[in-house]
Amino acid sequence: MRSLTFDELLAMLSAVALSADDLARLREWIAGIVNPAECIALIEQAAAGRPCPHCGCARKHRCGQASGLQRFRCLGCGHSHNALTGTPLARLRKKECWLPYLQCVLESRTVRDAARVTGVHRTTSFRWRHRFVPGAMRDRPQTLSAIVEADETYRLESQKGSRNLTRRPRKRGGVAKRRGINREHDCLLVARDRSGRTLDFHTGRGQVTVAQLHACLKPVLPADVLLISDSAIAYRDFAIQAGITHEAVNVKAGVRARGAIHVQNVNSWHSRFKSWLVRFRGVASRYLINYSGWQRVLDAGILTTPARLLCAAVQLG
Ligand SMILES: [Zn+2]
Repeated sequence: MRSLTFDELLAMLSAVALSADDLARLREWIAGIVNPAECIALIEQAAAGRPCPHCGCARKHRCGQASGLQRFRCLGCGHSHNALTGTPLARLRKKECWLPYLQCVLESRTVRDAARVTGVHRTTSFRWRHRFVPGAMRDRPQTLSAIVEADETYRLESQKGSRNLTRRPRKRGGVAKRRGINREHDCLLVARDRSGRTLDFHTGRGQVTVAQLHACLKPVLPADVLLISDSAIAYRDFAIQAGITHEAVNVKAGVRARGAIHVQNVNSWHSRFKSWLVRFRGVASRYLINYSGWQRVLDAGILTTPARLLCAAVQLG
């Protein structure tokens, strides 16, 4: 059978009575068509002048093209690389779909929805989510400053998508076996300063410990910072050991704030995260940091276009 010409296709489409829903799908599809060269140009531009990702040497020469990207051979180590080597996007195909897919990331679409909009398979859509999101998450503040609020939120551990469960399955999402926070809960630690810069850490299972606070917070808090937390002892001990000024608000005793001493900014970040997460109907523990990073990027409102997300993802970590 000979394939349709564009004119025939258009004639057929014109003959169909399109519903509002059909029109919306058609518009979405057309909006998603981009020139693949645009994506390639953005990638090459974002990685221009980058040293060798294998050895850091700046001397290299061009050696052909592959998958639309310029290849380079390093004069230091002899290995070849392109603009995506060493990034989460290395070796992903279908670059013509990347910018529309990143638009879906910006719109927090589900895997299925993003697959439908960009015309890729559902498994590709899932794989891409966990490459593009970690890519965008590389846009992360190096340090926090002045007044920093820190608090954790706990989520029941989830093995969603795992073939081999390490415990008996729960029914309908389920509840913890014991009351309170314990080893069944994933801890997400969030620190946010008053300029809105935010850092998130998945510290593991159970209550956050002093050692975990050291590992996560010490490198990102300058010595002159004021750390505010709830009255959990781990924060107090961490602050004493790290030599950081610390104030605690006894939230459990009903104290919300003492003037500027409160954790309301970080707590509202947590509640925005929890309500945003509902659409995904449960996320696996091993991807929790991807979702909090995704929310962090959206919430910061800096990477607001697919092109900006792409450039963040192409940066070397
Ligand atoms: Zn090299």
